Amino acid sequence: MTSLALVVALDPHAAMLRITRAPDGEAPPITHTVHLGEPGRHGHQGWIDERWATFDGAVLAAAGPLADESTLQLRFQLPPGWRLVTGLPGRGTTRTLEGSHGRSPWQILRSTCIAAGPFVRRSAQGSPLQVFTLPDHALPEQVQHAAAVWRVAHDALGFAPPHGYTVAWGPPAPGGEPVHGGTNERGSCTSHDGSHRPLELMAHRLAHAVNRDGPWAAPPPHARDHWFVEGFATWFEHEALRRAEVPGRARLPAWRARADRIHRQHPSWRVPLGSEPRVSGDLAEHLHYVRGPLAAHALDQALRERSGKDLLSFVAHLAHTRQRPDDLRRAIARWSGVTLDDVFARYVESASPPSPR
Ligand SMILES: [Zn+2]
Repeated sequence: MTSLALVVALDPHAAMLRITRAPDGEAPPITHTVHLGEPGRHGHQGWIDERWATFDGAVLAAAGPLADESTLQLRFQLPPGWRLVTGLPGRGTTRTLEGSHGRSPWQILRSTCIAAGPFVRRSAQGSPLQVFTLPDHALPEQVQHAAAVWRVAHDALGFAPPHGYTVAWGPPAPGGEPVHGGTNERGSCTSHDGSHRPLELMAHRLAHAVNRDGPWAAPPPHARDHWFVEGFATWFEHEALRRAEVPGRARLPAWRARADRIHRQHPSWRVPLGSEPRVSGDLAEHLHYVRGPLAAHALDQALRERSGKDLLSFVAHLAHTRQRPDDLRRAIARWSGVTLDDVFARYVESASPPSPR
């Protein structure tokens, strides 16, 4: 048994976290400083200003290797009036993490959002979904929509983590940049500027929380199925908001138009979606977030027409039964009783894919 204590002091004036490893008796304390605000793929990977702070638990890795610790204690020092908002277990400003389900405290921390500020709880006490906003940003519509998107993930994908799910929405970020901290199964932190799709991002993370444990609980065994991890999560942004009847940007037409435009501009990008692991950079982004969701949509449409089932039920089935398919196409065929070989050939394996209508 090894344990580690970290003290995390938030300094909103200097936009930084000071992370101190508690001394183990002989060694002096080690102090690290993390400046938040570096841009990342879906926005800044952390943010701190005088109103609020949000960051991935991953940034605490600056304090040193945490992978071997079986227990991790975090103590936060916050400005007066600030409250800690996170799905991590604990009380007040202290959180204690034990490894669980084969995951180390560090792995749990890495996929957790941590927010702090004068937050107010906006969802019902005891509800598995906890939504927080700042006092002067009540956001009643967004809180209601977040609950509706959560409900889709719960009902259609069977997402029911024992620890609930925590969403923290801060104010619009300067410059309209999206801001988010952690990801996946323990919650989501974001700025609330509607033009930057906070609800879609929340849906995306809910989908990853499910599709990491099922279908594969690991990278897909076959490289040709790799696209489905991001493709499904991105398509779920569209599907969750559609089912939740949340007004959002029309994602499908935007993806189609973008795919068609990019294929005209970059003929060499007409590669099979199944080749995704072998490409990088902008082409990988294009496959992840444009071609992937379109292919997932084509699979969903064909499943509905041919079997009366749909893609969410398939993913929920795998997550629920804990099956580990080795091949996506065969697993869908076995489960649905129909073949989608032509859909895979057209949208996944084709080097010159059309955009599904
Ligand atoms: Zn993703």
